[in-house]
Amino acid sequence: MRIKKGDKVRVISGEYKGVEGNVLKSFPKLGKVIVEKVNFVKKHQRPTQQNPSGGVVEMEAPINVSNVQLICPKCGKPSKPRIKILEDKSRVRYCAKCGDMI
Ligand SMILES: [Zn+2]
Repeated sequence: MRIKKGDKVRVISGEYKGVEGNVLKSFPKLGKVIVEKVNFVKKHQRPTQQNPSGGVVEMEAPINVSNVQLICPKCGKPSKPRIKILEDKSRVRYCAKCGDMI
């Protein structure tokens, strides 16, 4: 999984093409991510104590990770992160464009 929570991404296909946002949640096993303000769906909620009338709320639904592209926080360009293994065996991602760790 090359995209994780907190990453800034751009949607590259579908209805939300071109929209940029932060990853709110990632689902590595499903290959999906939830991106802020992308792919809103309406959900009906039962009345609760906090919200006695219930109603409809809009919230983001997961989209395929293949539909988004990571934006490098350093150079601000869409980037395919590369993985590098350090001497202590930890894995880091780095930007293929500017070489900075992401
Ligand atoms: Zn970069």
